[in-house]
Amino acid sequence: MGNFQIDFGKRDRVVGIDLGTTNSLVAFMDLTGPKVIPDPSGSNLVPSVVAVSPDGAIVAGPEARRMLITHPERTVYSVKRLMGRGLADVGEELKLFPFRIAEGSESVIQLLLGDRKLTPPEVSAHVLRHLKRNAEEFLGEPVTKAVITVPAYFNDAQRQATKDAGRIAGLDVLRLVNEPTAASLAYGLDKRKDGIVAVYDFGGGTFDISILKLHEGIFEVLATNGDTHLGGDDIDNLLLRIALEDIASEWELNAPLDPEGVQRLRRAVIEAKESLSFFPSARIELEYQGHAYRREIDRALLEKLIAPIIDRTLGPCRQCLRDSGLTPEQIDEVVMVGGSTRIPMVRSAVEALFRSHPHTDLNPDEVVALGAAVQAAILSGEVEDKLLLDVTPLSLGIETMGGVVSKLIHRNSTIPASATESFTTAVDGQRNVLIHVLQGERELARDCRSLARFDLKDIDPVPAGMARIEVRFLIDANGILSVTAVDKRTGKETGVEVKPSYGLTDEQVEKMILESFEKAGEDFAARQVLEARVEADNILRATDKAKQNDAWLALSDAERAAIDRAINELLVVYHAEDHRLILQKIESLNAATQKLAETMMNAAVGTALKGTHI
Ligand code: ADP
Ligand code: MG
Repeated sequence: MGNFQIDFGKRDRVVGIDLGTTNSLVAFMDLTGPKVIPDPSGSNLVPSVVAVSPDGAIVAGPEARRMLITHPERTVYSVKRLMGRGLADVGEELKLFPFRIAEGSESVIQLLLGDRKLTPPEVSAHVLRHLKRNAEEFLGEPVTKAVITVPAYFNDAQRQATKDAGRIAGLDVLRLVNEPTAASLAYGLDKRKDGIVAVYDFGGGTFDISILKLHEGIFEVLATNGDTHLGGDDIDNLLLRIALEDIASEWELNAPLDPEGVQRLRRAVIEAKESLSFFPSARIELEYQGHAYRREIDRALLEKLIAPIIDRTLGPCRQCLRDSGLTPEQIDEVVMVGGSTRIPMVRSAVEALFRSHPHTDLNPDEVVALGAAVQAAILSGEVEDKLLLDVTPLSLGIETMGGVVSKLIHRNSTIPASATESFTTAVDGQRNVLIHVLQGERELARDCRSLARFDLKDIDPVPAGMARIEVRFLIDANGILSVTAVDKRTGKETGVEVKPSYGLTDEQVEKMILESFEKAGEDFAARQVLEARVEADNILRATDKAKQNDAWLALSDAERAAIDRAINELLVVYHAEDHRLILQKIESLNAATQKLAETMMNAAVGTALKGTHI
């Protein structure tokens, strides 16, 4: 009889994932609503940090964040900033972040982690794999389908890169959802008949503001704005600078605090900042290399320091209102997203601007993941269908005569979207046209991002201006574009699934998926060796102790020699990278010490029995 599977028609579970710059989360829908799945470390938030440990194993999450202190050169974070971007795009990021880029990176950036090279989607895939594993352990079933959230302003390349990361992690990404849309879903705002929602998202390193319009359960993003370098990290840096100045004068060091000391101080500063959201004062404390630092800080001082930072979020909010053609009074609901919105001063500034009390009932660092789980449940058919509309963040067009861009789909158009436009030839008898697809707001092709180029060949040779070439753009629900061009005289059609200039090819993604399986094998082998060594340590320690026991003296010379031989053989293979060999020698030592163990046990039982008689 062969193997067969019965299909019970059970629906596959789909999880919702918030793949954040600082933290990531996975959530699912149960009977009572969306729930975040906790990390084994105890927190719901998984740091978006990936590290290569000295023995070559890749770790993500809390373990990787610990390595940020001990092995910064083997650790990467904030990789969301590099997703779907080329070297030319990321100059600013490189100035602000200690990314180590491998030489020769151009169309696909490669990051150096110890001796490994990983692209941003591969790094993100390790975070996703960590979340996938958490979900599988929690739910007790395989998890292969997900909805992942992205910032509303993510362009085509950044969206593709996020999908690639999912595929590399073994996840079928059913839908990419805009983060503000997800946050609104988490609050159930789709149940409103009509309304305008502002989503204020102040996280670790980025600030985003989006204005959504709701109508009959349909979401439409009217406009988005923000600052890609503004967040809780800026507050941390302010406090860190003060603490470093204190330490320099109090400890009278002759050199600046070393990187490990600075990282520890940063953690201490963050703890103090976060507790100041709930308590009127907090303490920054550090004990390091025989010195101690302690400083009390109260909320009034914190507010004085951060007022300019909070102010910097209000400009983009006003711009976003202008772009959507609305006044603050027209905003019906304000949703707070991101850990930094726990700061009371942030809440009051937002309330004052929009003149509306913001939603803060859900944890601001969880709402996006919760909304992703709602969307996931919609897609898996667990809850009744809702239509979701998002917008395309940047205009899309093609290059025409003189290097000018003709826009087909304008920015902030709702998606899915399509547009068709007719063009003609410039030269008599022209046989080929080059279609150059561009993304951006500028008028000239050279100022926009080039997404793709393709040829429409064998056009009917007619006088200039007579040909009719129809170009059609289609953006799917994920915001991913495909383009077709048709010669209307011949009906001949060419099309491309637009592969962004800085994306991975399908072959590259395929290769990464395979490699990750191979590497998973390696990682697994390394773990088996470590586990075998732990077991060896235990038995060696136990044998050493037994040698102090009277039972050892009761053994024959030959029995004692056999035990010593087994110990030596285990020590010889201890450092071999072969767990089977180590386990085999553990087995022999076990066998050799069996009589010793029995004698000891009998003696122990003897004393125990005697004890009961007294
Ligand atoms: P991201 O979306 O960028 O991944 P999060 O939404 O998880 O980030 O926000 C992380 C930021 O929120 C960090 O800077 C963290 O210190 C900050 N944060 C978390 N809790 C609090 C709090 N209680 N008070 C102030 N800031 C907080
Ligand atoms: Mg976030």
